[in-house]
Amino acid sequence: MEKWSGIPVCPGVALGKLYVMRRPPEPPAAGERDPDRELKRLAWARARAEEQLEEQYRLALSRLGQDEADIFRLHRMMLEDPDFWAAACEPVETGATSARAGVLAAGERFADQLRTLEDPYLRARAEDVEEAARLVAAQLDGTQTAIRLPGPVILAADSLDPGELLNLERDKVLGLVLGRAAPSGHWAVLARAMGLPAVTGVAAEPEWDGRSAGLDGETGALYLEPDEGISRALSRKENAMTLRGKEQAEAAQRPAVTRSGRKMKVCANIGRPEEAAQALAQGADGVGLFRTEFLCLGWTECPGEEEQFQAYRQAVEAMQGRTVTIRTLDLGGDKQAPWLPPEEGENPALGLRGIRLTLARPELFVPQLRAVLRAAAFGPVALMFPMVTSPEEVRRARALLEQCRTQLEAEGVSAGTPEVGVMIETPAAALMAHELARMVDFFSLGTNDLTQYTLAADRQNPALAGLWDQRHPAVLDLIRRTARAAREAGIRTAVCGQLAADREMTAFLLEAGVDELSVPPADVAAVKAAVRALD
Ligand code: PEP
Ligand code: MG
Repeated sequence: MEKWSGIPVCPGVALGKLYVMRRPPEPPAAGERDPDRELKRLAWARARAEEQLEEQYRLALSRLGQDEADIFRLHRMMLEDPDFWAAACEPVETGATSARAGVLAAGERFADQLRTLEDPYLRARAEDVEEAARLVAAQLDGTQTAIRLPGPVILAADSLDPGELLNLERDKVLGLVLGRAAPSGHWAVLARAMGLPAVTGVAAEPEWDGRSAGLDGETGALYLEPDEGISRALSRKENAMTLRGKEQAEAAQRPAVTRSGRKMKVCANIGRPEEAAQALAQGADGVGLFRTEFLCLGWTECPGEEEQFQAYRQAVEAMQGRTVTIRTLDLGGDKQAPWLPPEEGENPALGLRGIRLTLARPELFVPQLRAVLRAAAFGPVALMFPMVTSPEEVRRARALLEQCRTQLEAEGVSAGTPEVGVMIETPAAALMAHELARMVDFFSLGTNDLTQYTLAADRQNPALAGLWDQRHPAVLDLIRRTARAAREAGIRTAVCGQLAADREMTAFLLEAGVDELSVPPADVAAVKAAVRALD
């Protein structure tokens, strides 16, 4: 048995086989030829395509039958054919073509040869060769971005982007072991929402692939080939956590009130409409943050007004009269949608993010505002804007919202009246809280970004994990000022960043004058228990 110590990110225990994910080498820059790199990419893509075919073979065998499954075996045999492979590699080796062009040309050439044969069976194989070549090309294009897992495994990777995590088949992943991902990145937000035990700071070796492992998301430990004693201790811990979770979940159905009678609303953060029902079941008093950009990450284009309306309405109806706080698109930084060209500039976190992007792109903003107004006709909705740094941004966003309302009225479409708030997640917003408080109905403190921008510590950079500290006195001071300004203006303050789930800080947040906490659904029960324990 070997033990590795990483940084704990999401609590929970996982026992199972490790799957070590390999990434393709980077393609050469545009206009540059690098035959060695292209050959490596080609070999990588072939290995991935073979894995994919093997999985499809197994699936087809279990669901359909041997004849259907054999199609995938056949494709795999084509890729293993040494003549085919030599034909694909040769022009790449000489630098005449790219990896993609090489494999597609080989596919076409072999298919043409097969089409000239007498035997109808062999002639029909032409399409199979082309299909196999296309599979390899798709790997190179990155159009096969979904990570395919061989079964329930502990997934080990250097890092994962939010889109990849969202597209994972939940029942096939037991836990996550990442090498270089910062514990404060959006991957961690998602992992928590998915209830996945996760650890970062442990770089998996390729040889670990397939070995048995035990993961403790609470302590950050990874055990390779755990012995009996450790396996038993981890299982016991898992059972105890499930039991504690059940007890807390029962109590979570009631409001959280301190012993001295102060009430704290505990809401949930969600990224998809289906999570609203889960949040309600776990005792959430509402949705304090719907990260709508997560709806877009897996799409090839931005979801339109109708798709967004359906998603928001689903969440609103699921919450049965409790408020759903919808945040407008917060794309940019590490949240890159495939349809949004990456921003130019060295510092995307300081770039065209959040409200800056939506104000600059009304063709994104208007459909979203219309969808939110329409969903607000089905239950209580609050709307909030991310990454605000000036009153002018709020004025412009509110003006656009009013225009959308007028438009909907003119069209005879029903619209509700959401509360309007801003996220306080830049020092500028916190320092201007008095002025902003006069313009909105509520504040929501995004302590993840507030910490990043106050401390000049990139939340994505694992080397700064110690510096990026939400309990830093400067961050706490900005929280106090914000809550005070809100109180003086008679509006409420919520906290929806990770600090809200830090149970050792619940007392501080109550004292500072925070009225609402919004946390991952899985943390609602424990945070309510923490509120009840305070006097
Ligand atoms: C935050 O910054 O604290 C926040 C809640 O928003 P996100 O994590 O999505 O940037
Ligand atoms: Mg933020």
